[in-house]
Amino acid sequence: MANRWGIPKDVEDLVKQRDTNCVYCGQEFLDIPESRKQKPSWEHIVNDIRINGTDNIALCCMSCNASKGAKLLEDWLLCNYCKRNNINEDSVAQIVKEAIKKPPRFK
Ligand SMILES: [Zn+2]
Repeated sequence: MANRWGIPKDVEDLVKQRDTNCVYCGQEFLDIPESRKQKPSWEHIVNDIRINGTDNIALCCMSCNASKGAKLLEDWLLCNYCKRNNINEDSVAQIVKEAIKKPPRFK
């Protein structure tokens, strides 16, 4: 069974438990969001929807997701949005650091 983003249910559950904050900017998600930053959205760290494991699926805020779009992670981290929000290779969540070191691949 998969959700409407094609993410398997077990992966969805694991990621929801793991990512209580945006994996990029660190903003905590709230049940009743007051802004786009407090609202989680599904993110493929590597922009390949076939890579559906917990190493590539994460939750990030709507704001980071909109900014990242289809950009490569490495490129996005250099953009003005990331500079403005102090998002960089050292500030991101562990799961993103691992994806930078060893990008998840389609198996
Ligand atoms: Zn964010």
